Amino acid sequence: MESVLDRHDVAVVGAGLAGSCLAGALARAGTRVALIDAQAERGEARRDFRAEKFGADQMALFEGLGFGPALAACTTATEEVAVVRYGRLAYREAAREWGAPYPVLVGAVRDALPKGLLIPGRVAELELGPDRQVVTLGDGRRIEARLVVLATGLGQALLAKAGIAKRPLRPRHSLAVGFDMAASRSCFPFPAMTYFSERFGGRDAYLTLFPIGDVMRANLFCYRDPGEPWVAALRRDPEAALRAMMPRLSRHCPDLSVAGPVEVRPIDLARAEGVGRDGLVLIGDAFQTACPIPGTGIGKLLTDADRLARVHVPAWLATPGMSRGKIAAFYDDPVKQACDARSLRASLYARGLAVETGALWRARRLRNRLARTALRLVKDGPRAAASLAPGLLLPIGS
Ligand SMILES: Cc1cc2nc3c(=O)[nH]c(=O)nc-3n(C[C@H](O)[C@H](O)[C@H](O)COP(=O)(O)OP(=O)(O)OC[C@H]3O[C@@H](n4cnc5c(N)ncnc54)[C@H](O)[C@@H]3O)c2cc1C
Repeated sequence: MESVLDRHDVAVVGAGLAGSCLAGALARAGTRVALIDAQAERGEARRDFRAEKFGADQMALFEGLGFGPALAACTTATEEVAVVRYGRLAYREAAREWGAPYPVLVGAVRDALPKGLLIPGRVAELELGPDRQVVTLGDGRRIEARLVVLATGLGQALLAKAGIAKRPLRPRHSLAVGFDMAASRSCFPFPAMTYFSERFGGRDAYLTLFPIGDVMRANLFCYRDPGEPWVAALRRDPEAALRAMMPRLSRHCPDLSVAGPVEVRPIDLARAEGVGRDGLVLIGDAFQTACPIPGTGIGKLLTDADRLARVHVPAWLATPGMSRGKIAAFYDDPVKQACDARSLRASLYARGLAVETGALWRARRLRNRLARTALRLVKDGPRAAASLAPGLLLPIGS
């Protein structure tokens, strides 16, 4: 079968968070958009361990793109996080966070899209040019548009079709582990907790516990290789692995038993190179991946969607043609560039702080610690002084 469907202004390929948010914001502004996804049934997305919570900055971006109410309705919100450093409660931070499994986040955004916008199907071919683009689905359907947006996440097949390669910035940068705690949310003496590794140089970053409905969800982040025996041991007996890794954790969590399964995802940092193509733009993980440890992935993809929807796509559609010269304005956008650079810098810095043991990193750790302490003293006065003073006595790098 070979047929050309309606003509569109923009064809967005990939209905993860990046593609769905962009397509919805463009449609709301009156742009004729087709959003195509290989595994897209409305309100559903395949089980996939990805970002499971976000904070107030990301919520503000979701709201700006028109998805605030949809995200608020599908997530579990918390107002406070207990922060534990060196095994001790350092402080309780007023911080709004929203948690849900990634497919639920994506499903909520998809459900809020105008009817008919989301087209199920795998895009198999791209024909790109300075004026007109055609995407061809696996079953032969053809969709024509002035601009194609690739929001295909980690998939590389369509990038390769466009002659674009992803350059590894740091393969196997980190490891993300997700599991549900067996005890229900009400058994934990905090609404949410971030528990930093008890020691430096140990290749572990932090454990975060946060509620999703009645369940206490755990995300554990570290700088380990998925092939290490430690990973197999964690899968076999997660409670024992947690106790060994964070001996003082049980002081803060009464019950460390884990309800399976333990999901493990290696994280590669990579960025698309040579992206200048007529009629084509890349966003989200398709352009640059993010490490979950500093939690910059959602903010980065929402910044891409926001800049395209509010600034670039309206300007591009207002003039004839869709040359690579026009599209370069997006990759050169200072807001996007700063966001991408911040994400990468934060990922590399967080790894250095956790893993490196040289004098420079020890000095940085001490500086951060003093700065955190000073900030809390200014903010909370004597209450902070009382809770923080013992922590200050720990030696550097402990
Ligand atoms: C384990 C893990 C934990 C993370 N935790 C955090 C966190 O706590 N905070 C944070 O900010 N970020 C986190 N991230 C990063 C964040 O999840 C990603 O940056 C984000 O999900 C990327 O979204 P996306 O829309 O770019 O890609 P995706 O969500 O992967 O969407 C890509 C879509 O493209 C579709 N597709 C692919 N190829 C085709 C094709 N040929 N035709 C049609 N459709 C196609 C796929 O079906 C998919 O729906 C985490 C990542 C991982 C892996």
